Amino acid sequence: MIKTGVSAAWRERAAQLFPGGVNSPVRAYRAVGGEPPIIARGHGPFVWDVDDNRYIDFVGAFGPLILGHAHPAVVEAMRTAVEAGGSFGATSPTEVRLAELIRSRMPSIERVRFVNSGTEAAMSALRVARAATGRDLVIKFDGGYHGHADSLLVDAGSGVATLSIPGSAGVPASVAAQTLVANYNDLDSVAALFDAHPREVAAVIVEPVAANMGVVPPAPGFLAGLRRLTELAGSLLIFDEVITGFRVAPGGAQELFGVRPDLTILGKIIGGGLPVGAYGGRAELLDLVAPAGPVYQAGTLSGHPVVMAAGEATLLQLTDDVYSRLEARIDRLEEGLRRGGASTARVGSLLTLFFRDSAPRNFREAKESDTNAFAKFFQRMRDAGVLLPPSQFEAWFLSAAHDDAVIDATIDAAAG
Ligand SMILES: *Cc1c(COP(=O)(O)O)cnc(C)c1O
Repeated sequence: MIKTGVSAAWRERAAQLFPGGVNSPVRAYRAVGGEPPIIARGHGPFVWDVDDNRYIDFVGAFGPLILGHAHPAVVEAMRTAVEAGGSFGATSPTEVRLAELIRSRMPSIERVRFVNSGTEAAMSALRVARAATGRDLVIKFDGGYHGHADSLLVDAGSGVATLSIPGSAGVPASVAAQTLVANYNDLDSVAALFDAHPREVAAVIVEPVAANMGVVPPAPGFLAGLRRLTELAGSLLIFDEVITGFRVAPGGAQELFGVRPDLTILGKIIGGGLPVGAYGGRAELLDLVAPAGPVYQAGTLSGHPVVMAAGEATLLQLTDDVYSRLEARIDRLEEGLRRGGASTARVGSLLTLFFRDSAPRNFREAKESDTNAFAKFFQRMRDAGVLLPPSQFEAWFLSAAHDDAVIDATIDAAAG
């Protein structure tokens, strides 16, 4: 049995302070019920709550922690950066080194701008796309999540779907009207929007592997089809690789699927667990950004040396060897879960177990999953010491610290 007394006391205090007791909605466990743990520390594949219950962690901070918690190289890099004095409001060597690393692994990124969250990166990339094309409309996909900027909160996947709200209150209708929504893995739905709005669409923004409706891989030819359609229409193709970047392959989904976007949005892994975002792409597009060009975008703490150091240390650990190890481990996990009769979807070290006959191809199918069955499964796993992301529509994040013993313990827990 898990202990809960200390967590309950902290939850009580948090409930007085934060809306819904949390600083990001999914943490409140509304989709699975029960009381969320208050987490005190993490090490490798494990986290401990304030009652000292230990869990095998598949949340991984929702994506950044591909090396697991408190990886020694990341901790050391952060310590060195903190001791060097923190933040300067000036360019420092670390951000140059991290940008060079990113560019060497993701050649479509000729220039990059660091920001403080994926939300900021997506918002800014749209601004660049609109400036570059002189057009206002943007096409996104049903169930695609690109952070919480006004124009991207339309049909936005996991967090929003989990709360069963269609979009968000507080977004002006005039702003929402600039966003068109297509169906993931359905090129015809994209072509139809282009036909209905000729020369009006600035960009198509897509998670190249959808990971906020549960994991839904792109159908063969889908991403290449988006590349073709956007070129024909004179629109830009934006890959939101906040989750997939440096996760599904050393060069992200664009390397894995061989499609080169005009702009890429990054976050999560490139900050090594600290707040970060980045947008990058073709030099002439990024050179539209101030002070090189007329698109204004700024950030007091952008390129923060401690964040950059954690990101650099993380990327330097991500060798081909680490990716093969991650693949082997997640194969083992997926196979174990399937033996129990589950429908799974996986790309790289991202996995979702769907409570549905087969893995979905789009958000409509994902939403047909039995979310009550997921909630029961979630609670059973938690009682067995395995902490899953608390929604059917979130990906499980494997880390390089999840060894075979931890994988087998998870499979055993799932088998009940
Ligand atoms: C997490 C996420 C974002 C938003 O990043 P934040 O740092 O939470 O603002 C954007 N896009 C995708 C695909 C994400 O998963």
